[in-house]
Amino acid sequence: MEEVGTGLLDRLDALQRVAASAPGGPLLVVAGPGTGKTRTLTHRIAYLCAELNVDPKHCLAITFTRRAAEEMRERLESLLGEVAEDITVNTFHALGLQILREQAGAAGLEDGFGIADDAVREAARTEAGDDDNAYRKILRAQNLVDLDELVSVPVALLRDDPDLVDRYQARWRWVFVDEYQDVDATQYELLRLLVPPDGNICAIGDPDQAIYSFRGADVGYFLRFSQDFSDARLVRLARNYRSSAPILAAAVQAIAPTSLVRGRRLDPARLDPDAPQLGLHAAATPAAEAEWLARTVDGLVGGVSHRSFDGGRVDSRAATGTVTFADIAVLYRTDAQAGPVLEALSRAGIPVQKRSHDRLADRRAVAEIARELRFAGNTTGPLTDRVRAAGRALATRTPRLFDEQPRADLPAADVYGAVDLLMPLAERCGDDVEAFLQALATGAETDALDPRAQAVTLLTLHAAKGLEWPVVFLVGCEDGLLPLRFPGTAPDPEAVAEERRLFFVGMTRARDRLFLSHAARRQRFGAETTPARTPFLDVVDPSLVERLGVAEAPRKPSHRQLRLI
Ligand code: ATP
Ligand code: MG
Repeated sequence: MEEVGTGLLDRLDALQRVAASAPGGPLLVVAGPGTGKTRTLTHRIAYLCAELNVDPKHCLAITFTRRAAEEMRERLESLLGEVAEDITVNTFHALGLQILREQAGAAGLEDGFGIADDAVREAARTEAGDDDNAYRKILRAQNLVDLDELVSVPVALLRDDPDLVDRYQARWRWVFVDEYQDVDATQYELLRLLVPPDGNICAIGDPDQAIYSFRGADVGYFLRFSQDFSDARLVRLARNYRSSAPILAAAVQAIAPTSLVRGRRLDPARLDPDAPQLGLHAAATPAAEAEWLARTVDGLVGGVSHRSFDGGRVDSRAATGTVTFADIAVLYRTDAQAGPVLEALSRAGIPVQKRSHDRLADRRAVAEIARELRFAGNTTGPLTDRVRAAGRALATRTPRLFDEQPRADLPAADVYGAVDLLMPLAERCGDDVEAFLQALATGAETDALDPRAQAVTLLTLHAAKGLEWPVVFLVGCEDGLLPLRFPGTAPDPEAVAEERRLFFVGMTRARDRLFLSHAARRQRFGAETTPARTPFLDVVDPSLVERLGVAEAPRKPSHRQLRLI
């Protein structure tokens, strides 16, 4: 355990300690990015269990992504040891699934029910037309639920059954929620049912990072926490441990015009006097922007001869402290922007892992692999082997015995792409096929991110939430992309404010270097546009920003291994 010989809270600052050691009852922690909210939440759970004899079985921690849940579990295990296994750490979807499994009968489902993938949902929708109940009937007839129902059906069950509410409240007496600013109405209702108004709920978040309203999230629930839960205690954290002082200063200026946090404080804990400014590059086209990016990455990582590969995987930071590919992320507003970046990085021989925040199961090849694994039944062995075997069978369209359905007609490249994508997840699930299938059904592509992969990470801004890298490139800093606007539509102030928050989230992912870039011309919706630089930068002090020209051409790519996932 990592805290041997020291107090559990020694690695927190004074305000973080106040939050971590606060007594029971409703607790709201409001703090900006990089202030250690997630770290504080993990330490609070550990402190309650280790020092105040709270039973780990009584603890329920809810995170926004599966990846975050895994990370939290690992952290809890390192702080608490084995007893951490008794803590429930789930996303809202996985929590709903757990409740549904326990209450399947009451919900009109049989044990072993499944989660409808995209293809099944589409078919049911087409058949049912506009009739939402008919739609559910079709799913029920196949013993399936859809993803939204994972939360809404448990809510309906609990709403109708006070005894059930009592049972769950008795089981999870301590509830913790990270990224609370992005809960939606149904998730919020589930929380209200699981926690009495004076219950032990600890919600942590940052209204200025609310970026999921397009999916129904509502920052209003955050803002009215103290009305919903009685005598709520409020703790604000103020020190940012993540970003260099110039990056933090620029980010704070960028969010200021529409910040939702009154009297926001975000003081840099890192005061390195030599910290470089933000880099800003103006390119002619997206292709030129991507070319500049590839050269800059190449320059940062420092030449082919200094790089070493260990089957494509080494520790995220080279022992020498120099930048490695794993330290670098490229973030963009829309998936379409990834194309030129992927091309330029690949041409320069730079390994890449790209993820979107789409659901895993919405990729057809992933859904087919899941079906294949289910079909194979109770075979044993590590999932990595089983996933590879399933992929081979699919790609070669090997006929199955007693096949009731014709084989999917999938391009082999899609299948192999999906197999690669799923490997890190399969590895983390060991031989637990149920956990793996659940991850495929409820998870997002970002859950399959391999934090140890020796590759530059490409993500949408939405998918980058909660994460951090030493070096971040934010490409496409243009009016029309940031804020995103469709041609011919008037800018809606609410939507622009959310885009600004997205820009803020992107900037604050960076620890040491932040590079911003934009192109003077860009094809959008089939037409050539000439976008201006993002207006979000207008409020940033120019002395924090260094304008960068075109970097030198990279050395010729040599033996560097390509990992394009
Ligand atoms: P976000 O809003 O982006 O989710 P956060 O508030 O959850 O950010 P964390 O991810 O918990 O912040 O912490 C940010 C970084 O700062 C992490 O690398 C973390 O280890 C480090 N950190 C947090 N608190 C401290 C501390 N007291 N001392 C040293 N490092 C810290
Ligand atoms: Mg966090």
